[in-house]
Amino acid sequence: MTRSAMTATEPAYRQMYIGGKWVDAEAGETFETVDPYTGQVWARAPLAGAADVRKAVQAAEDALHGPWGTMSATARGNLIRRLAQLIGEHAEDLASIETTDNGKVIRETRGQMAGLPATYEYFAGAADKIQGSTIPSPNTNFFTYTRREPVGVVAAILPWNSPLYLLASKLAPALAAGCTFVAKPAEQTPMSTLKFAELVAEAGFPDGVFNVVTGAGETGAALAADPGVVKVTFTGSTATGTAVMKSAADHIADVTLELGGKSPNIVFADCDFDAAMNGVLAGIFAATGQTCIAGSRLLVARELHDQLVSRLAERIATIRLGDPLDTATEVGPIAFAEQLDKVRSYVDIGVRDGATLVCGGTRPESEGLRQGYFFEPTILTGVRNDMRVAREEIFGPVLSVIPFDTEDEAVRIANDTTYGLAAAVWTRDVQRAHRVAHVLNAGSVWINSYRVLAYNVPYGGYRQSGIGRENGLEGLDAYLQTKSVWVELTGASR
Ligand code: NAD
Repeated sequence: MTRSAMTATEPAYRQMYIGGKWVDAEAGETFETVDPYTGQVWARAPLAGAADVRKAVQAAEDALHGPWGTMSATARGNLIRRLAQLIGEHAEDLASIETTDNGKVIRETRGQMAGLPATYEYFAGAADKIQGSTIPSPNTNFFTYTRREPVGVVAAILPWNSPLYLLASKLAPALAAGCTFVAKPAEQTPMSTLKFAELVAEAGFPDGVFNVVTGAGETGAALAADPGVVKVTFTGSTATGTAVMKSAADHIADVTLELGGKSPNIVFADCDFDAAMNGVLAGIFAATGQTCIAGSRLLVARELHDQLVSRLAERIATIRLGDPLDTATEVGPIAFAEQLDKVRSYVDIGVRDGATLVCGGTRPESEGLRQGYFFEPTILTGVRNDMRVAREEIFGPVLSVIPFDTEDEAVRIANDTTYGLAAAVWTRDVQRAHRVAHVLNAGSVWINSYRVLAYNVPYGGYRQSGIGRENGLEGLDAYLQTKSVWVELTGASR
């Protein structure tokens, strides 16, 4: 969709979706969301307060104890399949809305939306394969079996970088498990989730199975603290994740946390050079560096360092920044103004700490870019792993380059971080590839690739990058609890 068509057809205001109804916030308050390419407000959503959050959780509880709770697993799976089909039919619309909200290039949001139906279909298929077991009781007077039951009302608190993609890895398994759901999208990007709620309604889910409350941190905090919520699934920064976990602890709610990262992209001298270069570029500059799994630390064999850095800089000079709705654009703007300021300040910190700015480091001044939140793809060399630009998540297009001399040193630097989300190894030596992959502290490790994920492969963080796994059957387990049933067989106690 062209930009003019987008702004002409999209409504300025969308209501929230609670208990199957489209509603304003009880207090009547709203907030604005800005298109990072134009720097202009393009839409508004309700600012949900504690009363709205309570209403949404109550609606989810009612649905759990109502028609959704008694629906067969097969029927649940069929509804999820219908939703997958509707997502496929509206993929282009969803991609355009998301790109306008967060500035991610349309090529990427289209790819993400095209992949969403498969996620929902995978979990739709799993719905009627959730099974308990029979267990030989030590006391033969008893027949003992287990049931796998939904945990109950799930609250999902989401970030702005991939709203619907991240929602899918939480919502699809939760629905398959038989849970009900309250989603709180990020305040910067509520619009695609509200559009998505229309599809849930059209698919025919009972009222209250899926609810959306919109708002900022206070809304998320009210949701995590609501005693009706039995599970909080959160994706966002480690600092907010800590607050969410504390809040969930107050009412013993379970948590899944998908948090930040400072992932190492390790390039050995025996790699396929061009493949590694492309992997390094995509690893850090895709989505303008605003992905949790960004390969933000390039660890490179010293003998390859100068050649790789100069080739990266040459390629960066040709990268096309522009309107994220334009299919020719390779790198879009930063999602919002405060994030742009954060990225810029980290480059200053890096240089002050002794790093060398090889390219980028500024906002482009050219016509057509000046009005948006653009930042040039940036390389910092001479980085030591104890510098802030190597330890803290920047969440922007900034690559910190660290040379190494030996495999052991590369592994030591890679693991010298509080995070543990992802890592990559570039080498032609198959023994080294696996040897290194096995000792890296990271939830996902790619060998000669970067940033590949799938709905059926478990994903999550080691250490301060998170707790729990999403995707695959492990992702389904996160929404199930086990009940053991004991049946007395002899009637002896009568
Ligand atoms: P954030 O932590 O600032 O916000 C995430 C969500 O939490 C938003 O919806 C926000 O409104 C809400 N929130 C803020 N304060 C809250 C509170 N006190 N209680 C409850 N909710 C609260 O994160 P962000 O800036 O939106 O996203 C960027 C971060 O997300 C990065 O750190 C990135 O690494 C991480 N991330 C992780 C993954 C992953 O899969 N591990 C994926 C994407 C993003």
